[in-house]
Formats: sequence, C-alpha cells, structure tokens
Amino acid sequence: MAKIDITNLRKTFGDDGEQIVAVDDFNLNIRDGEFLVFVGPSGCGKTTTLRCIAGLEDVTSGTIEFNGTDVTDKRARERDVAMVFQNYALYPHMTVRKNIGFPLRLSTKQTSEEIDSRVQNVTELLGIEDLLEKKPKELSGGQQQRVALGRAIIRDPEVFLMDEPLSNLDAKLRSTMRTELQELQQELGVTTAYVTHDQTEAMAMGDRIVVLNGGVLQQVGTASEVYRSPTNEFVAGFIGSPSINLFTAVVDGNTLTGPGGFSYTLEDESLVAGRDHVRVGIRPEDLTLSESGSLPCEVTVVEQMGNENFLYGKMDDIDITARIESEIRPSEGSVVEFGFAEEDLYLFDAETTEALKTK
Ligand code: ADP
Ligand code: MG
Repeated sequence: MAKIDITNLRKTFGDDGEQIVAVDDFNLNIRDGEFLVFVGPSGCGKTTTLRCIAGLEDVTSGTIEFNGTDVTDKRARERDVAMVFQNYALYPHMTVRKNIGFPLRLSTKQTSEEIDSRVQNVTELLGIEDLLEKKPKELSGGQQQRVALGRAIIRDPEVFLMDEPLSNLDAKLRSTMRTELQELQQELGVTTAYVTHDQTEAMAMGDRIVVLNGGVLQQVGTASEVYRSPTNEFVAGFIGSPSINLFTAVVDGNTLTGPGGFSYTLEDESLVAGRDHVRVGIRPEDLTLSESGSLPCEVTVVEQMGNENFLYGKMDDIDITARIESEIRPSEGSVVEFGFAEEDLYLFDAETTEALKTK
C-alpha cells in the first residue's frame, strides 16, 4: 500500500509556439488506502494527472513520491501501479484465464499452477469464475470490465489508477459496478485514484473528491465538503444535480437586488460589506414556494420524478431550477415566488468567484 505526495506538478504538451498546459501548480497528498476521485469537465487534466502518477507521462516539472520515495523519474513498471482504462484493453485472442494471468506470467517467476490458483481467487472475488475459458468477444461489457479489473488486481499493486472505467457501461450496470468497485477497494485496501467526468459518480464513490478545472485543482474534500462548502463558483456549479442557481445581484447596504425583481434583505450585512455586487447561489432543494418570496420565477416546465418534482423556469434571463413537493404543480407560464433561508445562501466574489459564504 502507498501514500502518494504530488508537489508542484506541471505538465505541458507541445512546443513553446503552441503550448498546452494540461496540469499546473498541482499539489495533492493521497492517503494510504483511500479512494480518491478526480472529477472535472472534459479536457481539465484528469487523465494527464493520472498518467503522470502512473509514470506513463514525463512530468514537465514537480515531483511525485510514493511512500516518501521520489518516483518522478521512474518508469511505469517500476512504480507498482495497476491501471484500468475505459476501453478495457483486453487481449482479444486470449481467454479470460489467460488475460487475467498475463501480468503474472510476464513479471514473476511463479509456476503456472501458482498463477492458475491466483487467477481462480481473483475471478471468485469478481464473480466471474464461470467465464474462465471464454474470449472477450463472448462477454458483455460488464463482464469485460470485471476481467480488466481482475488483470489489475492479480498484480497485487500498491496503487490502482482507474480512468473512467465504467463509462462504457449502461446506467444500471454502472451503478451496480460502482458499489462493487467500492466494496472491492475497501476489501483490498489498495490506495486508489479514480477519474470520472460524472460528479454524481464522484460524490457516490470517493472518500475524498478532487475537483479540477482547466488543469488547476479547485478543491479537495469529502462529498459533503465540496457540496456544502465549495471554494468557488466553479465547484458550486459543477457539484450537485440539478445544478445550483447562480446570478449576479447588486448590493445596497444589506439588500441584494437581482434580475427579474429578485430582492432579498440579508440579516448579516457584513457578508457583503464594501461590495457593489456579488454572485448569488441557491441550490434547487433550498427553494420553497412562498406567497411573498424573494425570487420570482416564470414556470417553463414541471418535471415529475416520482416522490419529488423539479420546476424549471426563468427569472428574467436566468434559468432557475427548484425541487418542489410532488403534490404541487404550478401551471406552465404562471409566475411563482420562492423563498429560502439565509443559511442556505451561497455568495461569491463577483470578480474572483471565490466563496464569501457557503452553508
Ligand atoms: P481529461 O482527462 O480531464 O479530459 P486530459 O488530461 O486528457 O483531460 O487533457 C488535458 C489537456 O491536455 C487537454 O487540453 C488535452 O487536449 C491536452 N492533451 C492531453 N494529452 C495530450 C497529448 N498527448 N498531446 C497534446 N495535448 C494533450
Ligand atoms: Mg480523460
């Protein structure tokens, strides 16, 4: 097992003329045995960071340490990491038995009996022991993904690195596999860095979540921390589904005035002291329909989701989403008003987008 310390990591691609900064000023300590999830939009540097940790990419500057030992200049096979990719990368002509046993046949002096018995254990762990003699093309997507996992597990590595390993599976299987993967990781206790672009997946799986944007680390924290206390507007907007409502308000004393007649008087004026405008955020579940609320909204559509409804509408040109009780169904085109508690309000600096107030 391993703890991983990443210091001032920077990775650029291309030459000086057309340089792409994929990861910049990246500092992170991954704890021994933890399940850490990297999340962020496409192109934000998740894969590059993971490949740098794996040793598949030379870093431009910075250091990576495993258990206090500098591995920055070590190759992938000297780092004792196992990677699982989105596209499984199974050998099509080999059976499941051969595919899973392959890393051991390649790297150790174990006898084929020893390797076979280890393959048996791993396939039992993954519930695929009946598939040993099948070839990849005879397997479903979920089964192929389990074989790919098996090939990583069999090496008994210090670190698992997983790059969107579930994104080729359908929604239902993906959610089953999430739970299985988490249980497996807990059972094996292997330090795991897992990449996804799906914030729901990140929230569901990670001990801690690393939010990335534009090659820059935005925040590291538990699901609850990044949800309740985002460091900036990007994190607030990226984490949570449906997304937080965000708009600009003008500050006058303790009063916030916004688009479409939004008006709210803060109890705590110090939150906005010295500012002439702020960015306001309110999560859909924190809005409640009210006779004389602060936030007017013209209803576009109400979506029924079983035990709750989502109301989508407009406050002037700002999109508003609210979670409302399932009995209530305001008619489309009508104007409703929402209230909220001050403690649920998020406020961000209008220029830097840094959080001024979170939950
Ligand atoms: P993510 O996995 O979050 O989608 P990546 O790490 O793949 O993001 O990419 C980060 C940035 O680096 C993107 O702008 C991407 O185009 C660029 N990039 C990644 N790999 C290469 C490469 N081999 N050559 C040039 N640019 C690359
Ligand atoms: Mg990627």
